[in-house]
Amino acid sequence: MRIHCLVTGHVRAKAGQRGVRRYLLDDWRDEAMPVNVFLVEHPDGLCLFDAGQTALATAPGWFPRWQPFLRLSRFELEPEDEVAPQLRARGIEPRQVGRVVLSHLHTDHVGGLDAFGHAEVVVPRLEWERATGLGGRIRGYLPQYWPDGLEPTLVDFDGGSIGPFASSHDVVGDGRLLLVPTPGHTPGHAALLVRDRERSWLLVGDLVHTAAELERVAPAIAEWSRAEDVGVLAAHDPSAGALLGGTS
Ligand SMILES: [Zn+2]
Repeated sequence: MRIHCLVTGHVRAKAGQRGVRRYLLDDWRDEAMPVNVFLVEHPDGLCLFDAGQTALATAPGWFPRWQPFLRLSRFELEPEDEVAPQLRARGIEPRQVGRVVLSHLHTDHVGGLDAFGHAEVVVPRLEWERATGLGGRIRGYLPQYWPDGLEPTLVDFDGGSIGPFASSHDVVGDGRLLLVPTPGHTPGHAALLVRDRERSWLLVGDLVHTAAELERVAPAIAEWSRAEDVGVLAAHDPSAGALLGGTS
């Protein structure tokens, strides 16, 4: 199964680390992180892992004023950087994507969902419950921008444990796309294990910002992925495309 890394713009953080000054100063870091989306060519059909950011997030007023921490990040992308135009640039129509699996529901992972109204959207149930309604808005989710009538398939992780993961969910039913719970960045966060004869990959979303951080943040997962020769692809890792090498 080939995996492609599509970069849906970049996100830049405030330079100040803490204190009230970071809310006030227009002081942004020099380096920006990509917002990666992964396209998996499963034999059953194309599967996206996360949907990336929307260019609407660059407009003033996108982030609610009453939530200053959302303004600690600045997104930088043009409409053509969204996932749908990027698929078209590769000769793929968005309607050819049968499934969109979401690591979690933060805005930079669901911003491109509008183009996939026809697809099955797969979300961990805990993540969905924490992200919807007023409670979700207070926690920093922006459900008001999700596509109208979004009705995802909710995952309960009733499958067996795999390596360091307590449970799993077989997305397609052939054991090749396994969603595993990876709480941390959010309690309902999940990663997608893409199992292939040649090379397996763990798409970790925002569990870590880069594959190199895994050792410190999740040592058991780092050790397992090393022992099993599983490549690690993170949603904001600038080297994700290079890790995929010739396969992307
Ligand atoms: Zn993110």
